[in-house]
Amino acid sequence: AQQRYASIRDTPAVTRCGNRIELNMNAGLMADLPSLQGSGAEGVGLFRTELQFLIRNQMPKRMELAELYARVLDSAHGKRVVFRTLDIGSDKVLPYMKPNDEPNPALGWRAIRVGLDKPGVMRMQLQALIRAANGRPLTIMFPFVAQFEEYRQARKEVDKAIAREVKLGHVLPETLEVGAMLETPSLAFAPEQFFREVEFLSIGGNDLKQFFFAADRENERVRRRYDTLNVSFLSLIEKIVERCARTDTPLSFCGEDAGRPIEAMCLAAIGLRSLSMRPASIGPVKSLLLRCNLEEVRKVIIDARHRGEQSVRPAVMEYLREQA
Ligand code: PEP
Ligand code: MG
Repeated sequence: AQQRYASIRDTPAVTRCGNRIELNMNAGLMADLPSLQGSGAEGVGLFRTELQFLIRNQMPKRMELAELYARVLDSAHGKRVVFRTLDIGSDKVLPYMKPNDEPNPALGWRAIRVGLDKPGVMRMQLQALIRAANGRPLTIMFPFVAQFEEYRQARKEVDKAIAREVKLGHVLPETLEVGAMLETPSLAFAPEQFFREVEFLSIGGNDLKQFFFAADRENERVRRRYDTLNVSFLSLIEKIVERCARTDTPLSFCGEDAGRPIEAMCLAAIGLRSLSMRPASIGPVKSLLLRCNLEEVRKVIIDARHRGEQSVRPAVMEYLREQA
């Protein structure tokens, strides 16, 4: 499939109406990194660090992690890599951690909640990331932030980790960007100061959609009822886009929907300018973006909403058929 899109691999994704969309890839293992070249991704928009923890039967050591992250950065050859701190709990249970008996693990003690309550592992991971950067730029993203204070506390941990490295006389990252995933609806309504303090945001559409519709993302029965192109969900995303625009906060979208061409086109039409997806999706998404006029798609979306439709998908599909 990647061969099919080889001719547009190095072409930037500029739509017919002249909007440039940044296309990044999601990764989680060293083995994913070669795709950075092959897919034409501009960087790694989401590096899921928990995979390294999940494939072992004991907690990795700080040195091991630092070496691994350094190799990730080496393989990225200067392209930006967004390292997401450990997102465990819920469906991702570490074999060497005592499982929590929780009735609703997706709503339970997971991700940054664990990181802040038991900061040992998070501190080790932050230190490993700073050492791995070894004077290169470093980008850190916190998962599952549901309120401003959680981001502030996590950010404080980064600052403390930096201060420790200074004291030890180690080299600091050339630049440091710290951001958050927006994957709980509450964060879309955070005070404006939050949007000013984060250095970037990335919409985790998989979780955001799950919590918005109260529909388990793992449960096929309920998951399929709710379309990503549902007008209410798109309104939430639009709101996030507007709030970020007001505060000049860089925003991207890194859920699975970013890798589906029609969804990606609609996200771009409502203002997203950066998407992160599986490497194999970059070709198909770019291929559609190169052909589309976002102004027209935006109008199709607005009209469908005015007509009271539940999802804009039928209208968008019809528009695409007319174009073909
Ligand atoms: C998401 O929730 O959309 C996301 C990108 O993170 P994950 O799928 O790892 O939960
Ligand atoms: Mg998520």
